[in-house]
Amino acid sequence: MSYTFNTQATCQEYFGKSHDLVRRSVKEFVEQEILPYIDDWEEAGEFPRELYLKAAEVGILGTGYPEAYGGIPGDIFFRVVVTEELMRSGSGGLAAGIGSLNIALPPILSLGTDAQKERFIKPVLAGEKIAALAITEPGGGSDVASIGTTAVREGDHYRVNGSKTFITSGHRADQITCAVRTGKTGAHGISLLVIESDTPGYSVSAKLKKTGWWASDTAQIFLDDCLVPAENLIGEENQGFYGIMENFQGERLAMAIMANMTSQMAYEACLEYAREREALNRKLQGFQVIRHKLVDMATRLEASREFTYRIAAKIDSGHNQVKEISMAKNFACEVSDKITYDAVQIFGGYGYMRGYLVERLFRDNRILSIGGGTTEIMKEIIGSFLFK
Ligand SMILES: Cc1cc2nc3c(=O)[nH]c(=O)nc-3n(C[C@H](O)[C@H](O)[C@H](O)COP(=O)(O)OP(=O)(O)OC[C@H]3O[C@@H](n4cnc5c(N)ncnc54)[C@H](O)[C@@H]3O)c2cc1C
Repeated sequence: MSYTFNTQATCQEYFGKSHDLVRRSVKEFVEQEILPYIDDWEEAGEFPRELYLKAAEVGILGTGYPEAYGGIPGDIFFRVVVTEELMRSGSGGLAAGIGSLNIALPPILSLGTDAQKERFIKPVLAGEKIAALAITEPGGGSDVASIGTTAVREGDHYRVNGSKTFITSGHRADQITCAVRTGKTGAHGISLLVIESDTPGYSVSAKLKKTGWWASDTAQIFLDDCLVPAENLIGEENQGFYGIMENFQGERLAMAIMANMTSQMAYEACLEYAREREALNRKLQGFQVIRHKLVDMATRLEASREFTYRIAAKIDSGHNQVKEISMAKNFACEVSDKITYDAVQIFGGYGYMRGYLVERLFRDNRILSIGGGTTEIMKEIIGSFLFK
């Protein structure tokens, strides 16, 4: 499989010299530590645990977090750069697995106490522990307000019962940021608890086999009479729903970036293929229908990426972008759905063969319009702003 694509041109409006330096270092990391092995890791259904330690060493895990917990603070575009370059591994699963801390830690960072941050953020940024976010339950993921996993206060502990599913890094996570019901039904009875995987009663399923994202381990987690210290409660009791909703904004931005990078890589692969592949004694790029497909890819991608960057910049400057980030996620996924479909078409039979990048991009792409809130849920959110 060939991964020798041009580095994405950086846009000066959003990225400066220090972003370029970070991009270069993550690019090197991907070329040296990931690309030689990624095909094997995809087949194995996971990447080595030591990769977290190596990623921590070069600052990939700590990007965007406070120095006090081992992070490297910076604006939102540093995290964008890291996500984009990890996607250059050609494996959405790798990017999702390495990146699961970025959906698990933000609620602890924004709502947790200093002691909680010290205990639950520091070792994760150091690559010593793996963190996952556990919201979705077998009974449903879209309706977050109906979460059924219960946490009943008993003295200085919560007794937790229930299960979570489709959890990224769930098979080997050392800690999960877990949504539990501590109060009445609905959104106002939900809290966030950090549950450690060595808690008696905590168990995991076998790794779930998926359409794509093979290199990320995904699991169901069972919580049977787990006694979790009350000091692991993040933020106020019964106020967890707001933390979950805030957290979704970062996840949706990451999904939009991943979709745009999927589009970028599929487009680049097609451009290269159309230059080389011949049919009827002509290069594919000699056919107008192929050229128009590539032109449409480039146009859609450009619009999607610029829109996503603009929203990221607004989030970074403190504007509420709940409606816009939902639009950006949907738009980027619509674009990557179309581009990955057309990319397989341009590659013909080879596009359907394992070992070809576009085949993996096509599979990996499918989750992006489901995870972090489905297309339909994004539309419900956007609609709630339009039809007030
Ligand atoms: C590979 C993978 C990794 C994941 N990682 C994580 C993770 O790390 N942590 C985590 O907590 N979850 C994770 N998820 C779960 C993911 O967030 C959910 O799958 C997603 O939120 C949808 O929930 P669901 O699958 O239960 O579908 P459902 O909620 O059952 O929805 C089924 C269908 O009904 C539609 N629907 C539901 N409600 C409405 C409505 N009100 N209006 C219109 N349509 C509606 C949905 O759009 C969808 O098309 C992951 C999922 C996958 C596949």
